[in-house]
Amino acid sequence: MTEYLLNKSIDNIKGVGPKVKTQLQKLGIETIQDALFYLPKSYENRTKITKIIDLEPGNAYQIEGEIIESKIYYPGRRAFFARITDGTGFIQMRLFFFSTPQVKAFVKGLKIRIYGVVRDTGGKFEIFHPSYKIFSSNQRPPLDNTLTPIYSIGSSKITQYRLRSVIKNCVREMPSENSYEKKIDETFSKKNVSNLSIRKSLQTIHSPSIKDEILKIKNFSHPAQKRLIVEELLTNLIGVKISTSRIDKMMSPRVETSNDVLEDFKKNLPFNLTNSQDLVIDEINEDLNQTKPMRRLVQGDVGSGKTVVAAAAMLSVAKNNFQTVLLCPTEVLAEQHFKNFSLWMKNEDINIALLTGKTKKNEWEKINKELLTGKTKILIGTHSVFQERVSLKNLALVVVDEQQRFGVKQRFEILQKTAKGIMPHQLFMTATPIPRTLAMTMFADLSVSKISEMPPGRNPVSTSVMSNKKRDELIERLEIICENGNQAFWLCTMIEESENLDVQTAESSKKWLEENSKNLKVGLVHSKLPKNQKDKVIEEFRNGKIDVLVCTTVIEVGMDVPNASLMIIENAERLGLSQLHQLRGRVGRGPDMQAHCILLYEGNLGETAEARMTAMKETNDGFKISEIDMKIRGSGEILGTKQSGGMELKIADLIRDAQFLDKSEELAKELEGNSELVDLLMRRWIGKKENLIAAQ
Ligand code: ADP
Ligand code: MG
Repeated sequence: MTEYLLNKSIDNIKGVGPKVKTQLQKLGIETIQDALFYLPKSYENRTKITKIIDLEPGNAYQIEGEIIESKIYYPGRRAFFARITDGTGFIQMRLFFFSTPQVKAFVKGLKIRIYGVVRDTGGKFEIFHPSYKIFSSNQRPPLDNTLTPIYSIGSSKITQYRLRSVIKNCVREMPSENSYEKKIDETFSKKNVSNLSIRKSLQTIHSPSIKDEILKIKNFSHPAQKRLIVEELLTNLIGVKISTSRIDKMMSPRVETSNDVLEDFKKNLPFNLTNSQDLVIDEINEDLNQTKPMRRLVQGDVGSGKTVVAAAAMLSVAKNNFQTVLLCPTEVLAEQHFKNFSLWMKNEDINIALLTGKTKKNEWEKINKELLTGKTKILIGTHSVFQERVSLKNLALVVVDEQQRFGVKQRFEILQKTAKGIMPHQLFMTATPIPRTLAMTMFADLSVSKISEMPPGRNPVSTSVMSNKKRDELIERLEIICENGNQAFWLCTMIEESENLDVQTAESSKKWLEENSKNLKVGLVHSKLPKNQKDKVIEEFRNGKIDVLVCTTVIEVGMDVPNASLMIIENAERLGLSQLHQLRGRVGRGPDMQAHCILLYEGNLGETAEARMTAMKETNDGFKISEIDMKIRGSGEILGTKQSGGMELKIADLIRDAQFLDKSEELAKELEGNSELVDLLMRRWIGKKENLIAAQ
């Protein structure tokens, strides 16, 4: 395809200088098109004002009123408070970070408009760090006439405001459509999916007007969303086909597995494998023995012992003089695996390397050299490290842990690391079962192994639900647990879209714990801490110097601290069922321990939140949990988190949108023969590099 306008670099857009460009790169946005297809994950409704009397805690509102009081004070930590009334009631706003000019602007009698999630803090309504605007009564700003899109910002330092304005500029500057785009649009309308063009759909998605039926947008049932969802699904279906046909032509190294090696490995483990684990190891070994590339998913509930199964496979590969990579979603997890592997294989003469974002440069160079010469057989690292330049001598197996990344994009990523028709075997480990519809379409070529039993001596974690108003009662409980030599996690969940706020909640909770107990040693980790500090705290928690670890959800994935017996989750009402279950699985990993999980909620529980809490109380079975999850979600519940089942999709949710799979397949068949259109679709939805391979 000749020069395609939207493939132009993002710095052609107003407001994108070098700094913003780097920030956008972190989000994977390099071209104008990337920005256009960076879709909002949710919306805020600032098109109307809600009366204070009508507020319900736990929800976000826009409120307008008069400032009647403001002050700085120190209830534990320095904070700024302002009290506001609109004549129907009072609400307080609280800021933890503020400047003097900011404080001075709060003049009694002036009007203010604020937007944020309302909390019930002991009978009072409060909003922490709302966005706000102060004005005098004769200068009332107009209300927004579009919904405000909220984009995911991840670890990029870009502000929501800046990202919004960049994307808005991209939407504004979309050139008139070209013939390829027209062709795709026509196919959509011919097949009765949607008469909306891709452009109109993007416009609507990025700034839906009030006329666009807010409810439909919020429920993801708007025609513009349907247009995009189907296009994304069909592109992924085409991507699966292309990559499968390429992989089918390739061979994997044959790995001979030996019983002696396996028996020795087992003898050196500090525990006996369960029957389930043994069976799964057999299934994997059978695959490894063949030159047909393995693509196997190991499903096992949280704590069922997936890691050691992977280790057995990796050992066999190493014994054949081939290399393996174990990819982890976080550094903490990579380090934990590295420790375990080193322990489990201490009697083997095998070089294992750990490569994370914090590996020093000279060490990195040494590791890289030893990977190239083949001296190092096992590499454990984070995804980001793998994506950057890591070259290996003879990669034979890639294991992907926990993060459910085994979608089309990853297939192409792995394909990129391969040479001369050699494809490494692939093993994926996940605690979340894949929905059936997916297994039949997107993952038709994936074999599944199940670890169906837990290691012996594991008692189910008992779960209770508790209003945040009663949190005082937790202090005594925590003290008893820690006196008995056990430890606890205190988890602060994402309260709003802002990760900063998340961190602040964690900080206040730590403060609160310290103020209310002299005996507890409390530690804090969150994503904003410098790495060495984070590591130090985690290390102290692991070796028992800290009793209670206050943390944000960002950090915990897969963390294994056998001594932890209590998990407290703040604002549990905001989390999805499978996430709650994952988090609960972090405790009760020691043998013969009775572990507990306490779900703290704020305000009144809604119907679906209550259903989730009940499910958590009633079962510890991950498969049941995900069944219930689908039922609740099927009945119209939309949570912020998407169920993409490993696909890393931009808008489609494979459970919510399963109804569109047939249609998407039909369209995929219609379009897949036209390489130019496929090229365009791949660029839109999967990414630049991958497309180049697809085009080969
Ligand atoms: P997950 O399946 O959630 O990844 P892990 O692999 O982290 O679980 O295992 C959880 C814990 O159970 C680890 O401490 C691990 O060493 C231990 N473990 C694994 N298999 C067994 C077993 N057969 N018997 C006892 N403990 C085991
Ligand atoms: Mg694990």
